[in-house]
Amino acid sequence: MQDVDEALILRCSKCSTAAEPDSNQAQCAVCGALLELVAPPPKVRGDALRRIFADRRGTHGGRDTSGVWRYRELLAVRADDVITFPEGNTPLIHGGRAAHWAGCPTLRVKHEGLNPTGSFKDRGMTVGITQAKRVGAWAVACASTGNTAASMAAYAARAGIPALVFIPAGKVAMGKLSQALAYGARTLVVRGDFDACLELARRAARELGIYLLNSVNPYRLEGQKTIVLEMLEQCGWDAPDWIALPAGNLGNTAAFGMALAAARDCGLISRVPRLLAVQAEGAAPFAHAFDVGFEALQPIRPNTVATAINIGDPASYDRAVRSIRETDGIVTTVSDTELLEAKAVIDAAGIGCEPASAAAVAGVRRMIREGVISDDADVVSVLTGHVLKDPEATVGYHGQSVPGRALSNPPVEIDATIDDLRRTLDRA
Ligand SMILES: *Cc1c(COP(=O)(O)O)cnc(C)c1O
Ligand SMILES: [Zn+2]
Repeated sequence: MQDVDEALILRCSKCSTAAEPDSNQAQCAVCGALLELVAPPPKVRGDALRRIFADRRGTHGGRDTSGVWRYRELLAVRADDVITFPEGNTPLIHGGRAAHWAGCPTLRVKHEGLNPTGSFKDRGMTVGITQAKRVGAWAVACASTGNTAASMAAYAARAGIPALVFIPAGKVAMGKLSQALAYGARTLVVRGDFDACLELARRAARELGIYLLNSVNPYRLEGQKTIVLEMLEQCGWDAPDWIALPAGNLGNTAAFGMALAAARDCGLISRVPRLLAVQAEGAAPFAHAFDVGFEALQPIRPNTVATAINIGDPASYDRAVRSIRETDGIVTTVSDTELLEAKAVIDAAGIGCEPASAAAVAGVRRMIREGVISDDADVVSVLTGHVLKDPEATVGYHGQSVPGRALSNPPVEIDATIDDLRRTLDRA
């Protein structure tokens, strides 16, 4: 079996200037663009490669049980001494009543909220932490809207590396904050937004020599490619027409395009699905750029209830543009009202997700209503985070009866008597 090794190259995604793969450099020294990892294409292709992936599913213990490392032939990484829980292995399931709500009866969801720390961030983090350990990092850091912090804290704990997280004050959901604290990360609540946190984390990396594990770290994106690879395998390598995903800092949008190109080049799929990247109206710089043919990115001051995509100056913009262009993709927006309704429907289907994840399903509904996606299209929507991540959003939604909220399910307080219980049930 080929394991990518010395041939691993780190280079600028724009001007191709080479960098040292074991450095903690994320940006090109010449032009400032993000760096990308490149490995020679695998020697096995098509059916032979499919068989390798399938055989690993039957193993117990070790890296082959990971839904990330199992696909290592398609990742530009070294795959020895990995730090894994394992992660991935998330279900691809029918959307139930959420499919009907979206107007797409066959809609399926890939539930990345069922990763070890409750979000897809674990897929990038297993690769990022493995690399941090390899280069002997004395500490790791990230700026985060919450899920990266939760994931990094857990993986750093597994690896025995001290962790430092920068989160924006008042903008992080309770489930995520509690995870960072519980897993033992030094948690710094920064008076500023996510973009200010990222700037600070980048400076800390440069000036204090801390290993940076934001998604600007090219190793993280390699791991995130496996969301798509695992999903394609679950589809029997019969690719869907569309893949919908929420878009914030654009790491996933970038990684999905990379994964689809790799799957096509290796003969795993014959047809590349189109990407539908969905932003919240109040944090939609990518959608605005899409509307003007990606002429320019205008950073904005973000404002949405979906904290995981509350980002105004997305770091992986250039590579995400490439993904949308190469897949004939679309970028759209949904309002906070729409994404919260989508979340209520997904939750009520027993599936559950956090607000940002629901944005993708709301985006599918909008595109079907506008006739951009046909209602018999084969669509997979990626649910990025777990329902327990943002309890305030859920309880807030159901806690009050708001006109027009058909799905509102407020708790009812009763006396501890069978009579009051009867009265209450009769009323319902
Ligand atoms: C990080 C995150 C996103 C945004 O993904 P990007 O790669 O930053 O665009 C969406 N949903 C959840 C739950 C996340 O944790
Ligand atoms: Zn460059």
